[in-house]
Amino acid sequence: MELLTIGAFAKASRLSPKALRLYDELELLRPARVDPDTGYRYYAVEQLRRARLVAWLRRLGMPLAEIRAVCALDAADAAHEVRAYWARVEAETAVRRDLAAFLVDQLTGESRRDHTTMLELRYAAHSDRGHVRPSNQDSVYAGRRLLAVADGCGPAGASASSAAVEALRFLDEGEEPGAGDVLNLLEDAVRSAGEAVRDLADGSPEVGSTLTALLWTGSKLALVHIGDSRAYLLRDGGLFRISHDHSVVQSLIDEGRLSPEEAESHPRRALLLKALGIGGPAVAADLRLQEARAGDRYLLCSDGLTGVVADARIKELLAGEADPERAVRVLIDAANAAGGPDNVSCVVADVVLAAAPSVPVG
Ligand code: MG
Repeated sequence: MELLTIGAFAKASRLSPKALRLYDELELLRPARVDPDTGYRYYAVEQLRRARLVAWLRRLGMPLAEIRAVCALDAADAAHEVRAYWARVEAETAVRRDLAAFLVDQLTGESRRDHTTMLELRYAAHSDRGHVRPSNQDSVYAGRRLLAVADGCGPAGASASSAAVEALRFLDEGEEPGAGDVLNLLEDAVRSAGEAVRDLADGSPEVGSTLTALLWTGSKLALVHIGDSRAYLLRDGGLFRISHDHSVVQSLIDEGRLSPEEAESHPRRALLLKALGIGGPAVAADLRLQEARAGDRYLLCSDGLTGVVADARIKELLAGEADPERAVRVLIDAANAAGGPDNVSCVVADVVLAAAPSVPVG
């Protein structure tokens, strides 16, 4: 076996001797031989392959504990792990990107806000028990400024979803929030919604609620989202999902371990990664800001709709009914026609030009 000194091995692997000593201590890369007298480390030429993999995984930003796991796998499984790691990084980055966009928007918004185009929402909401469940654990709300859907789970699920929506109700009242206040307002509202759900759960780990809500700021819509209820935007004939499911199945799709088709019939597809009351008090909701355009139509819905009605059909139904009330009705009918296995809730809101304020004559 050809042995290299730590210096020669460091050069060949592009890892510093200091890093090699650390990886030895962490049992990530043990030297082939340690001289019992001098303590000098020697490495086998065959270890270069692993050392180079470690070096590149470090450059990727992977934590050492995960690198150790990857190094213990065969090539195919290691590839899976790296893909899964990167999917997690991208998901985290996406949340931060939205937050950055939110902040940029707030900082620049005041100077370029267009006061000449006044927009407002026209909305409708409804929740239905479905054909199978004994009770309705969903809650919905639609008002001038606030739209919300919550889907409760566990023995106190109905109270949990209702408490979640109730905690946001104040956002629909009072003065229109300035763009600079929206982020704090939403964060506070979500925190109190989480507290309300945890109080109800009284220590039971099964009780929780999703929450997907849109808050109107006068020119934009702030989306707050946690769980697997969804928000969609119908714009220029295209349907876009603007929320990301916090479900076990979605994380498997993100990591490339499951195809979206397989996910549709996955037995654990209702299992949530995070929701209000689930995952501890520190669990953060996603926040993003949507530029509102006249003609936009938003849909918030619980998984009672998306579990049985495909996105393509949702788009057809949403686009086919001009009136939000009718659109809500046909979507709920479609879920029930597909068996209505779950409670189903929909909020549909159109962004429309505000009626011109009447000018007194004389
Ligand atoms: Mg549900």
